[in-house]
Amino acid sequence: MKNSTLAIWLEHCLEFINQAEDPLSAVIFEGVLHAADTGHLIMLESILSGTAHSAVAVNRPLESLLNSIYITKMVIWGRLEAEIDPAQAWDMSVGLEILFQEALIIATDSYTKALAESHQRHAVEAARLSQEAEQKVMGYATELARANRELARLEQAKSDFISIAAHELKTPLTIVQGYADMLLEQELARVSEKAQTILKGIAVGAERMNDIVNDLLDVSAIEMSSLVLNPEPVVVGELFQVLLERASHVARSRQQTFNVDIKTDLPIIQTDPKRLYQVLDQLVNNAIKFTPDGGEITVTAYHETEAKTGADFIKVEVADTGIGIAPEDKEYVFDKFFRVGKTNLHSSGKVKFKGAGPGLGLSIVKGVVESLNGQIWIESQGYDEVNFPGSTFHLRLPVQKNSEE
Ligand code: ADP
Repeated sequence: MKNSTLAIWLEHCLEFINQAEDPLSAVIFEGVLHAADTGHLIMLESILSGTAHSAVAVNRPLESLLNSIYITKMVIWGRLEAEIDPAQAWDMSVGLEILFQEALIIATDSYTKALAESHQRHAVEAARLSQEAEQKVMGYATELARANRELARLEQAKSDFISIAAHELKTPLTIVQGYADMLLEQELARVSEKAQTILKGIAVGAERMNDIVNDLLDVSAIEMSSLVLNPEPVVVGELFQVLLERASHVARSRQQTFNVDIKTDLPIIQTDPKRLYQVLDQLVNNAIKFTPDGGEITVTAYHETEAKTGADFIKVEVADTGIGIAPEDKEYVFDKFFRVGKTNLHSSGKVKFKGAGPGLGLSIVKGVVESLNGQIWIESQGYDEVNFPGSTFHLRLPVQKNSEE
């Protein structure tokens, strides 16, 4: 392959190659020249292997590399035809042909090898990344499971605390209430008016505390699914009568208009009347509480048959013109201890405007309604203490087929 005549002449061609438009040609030419000069392909191989690797790295096709070899060859060929006598040129052109054949083979081999290496690298990298991702996901899952366990443990501790505290408070509270009532009823307390006022204060405070303890007991019973229900046939209209009489009186004290539309054809349902009363009372109380003075409360109840299933329900709606509930809070207001915005915390007045309690009322309502196989949901344009968009609480109670007769 060593061809000194060719090498000498090739050196003379260098300036033409440098002028060739293809930037790779000059480098390839160096390799060809070295091969002709030394008889070794080592430099041509290293040049073409490097170029092939770069081509693969930037996604250039093999054709572009072969094209550069072809351009180099054509430039030299042109000079050979133009400058050398054909008899002498024959030998040189054969040598050139052999060298460029080699160059094409080396370039193709190198490119194929570079491509395979690149694929393998990508595959190894992809496998490493996927393994890394898998490990991360497993790590997160373990962390999440641990956090969930901790959360469940804390939730259980909270429930236990509520249950124990409520039960423990109940006994001494009953004693305080009992003694206060006894004193109020006896001559002893009538000695002075001042003593009577103090005793009444104690009784009212103890009653309020008793309500809170009862709420806590309900919350804990709902959480432990041990709420005791005493179902019986209930005439819902009658239940409403008692409740609405009291509520309209309270609403009047807040200068609120109280509208009632209870249909007379409500079917009798099998339910726990005390628990249902508790639910309706809470909803009406909340409507009064979260509506400003002069607002309007409307309680509606009617019989509804679902078109799709033919199932019967009693539908109750408690609508108010109060502060409303933001869309993002609609599901959370049913969580225990949840309150929205700035409320007058721990108000002693049950129906004072925005006089929030401990935030247990609606969580009990939801628990009780679900125990009675009913549904409850809220409709409200949002929370706004300037324009008062109001809220409507929808309650749906099932009518059992045989309880209608
Ligand atoms: P509490 O009244 O003891 O704070 P509830 O569980 O009865 O607890 O109510 C939770 C929260 O839901 C209230 O603090 C109030 O922010 C909101 N809410 C309940 N009823 C209404 C209503 N009718 N209009 C606007 N907000 C309400």
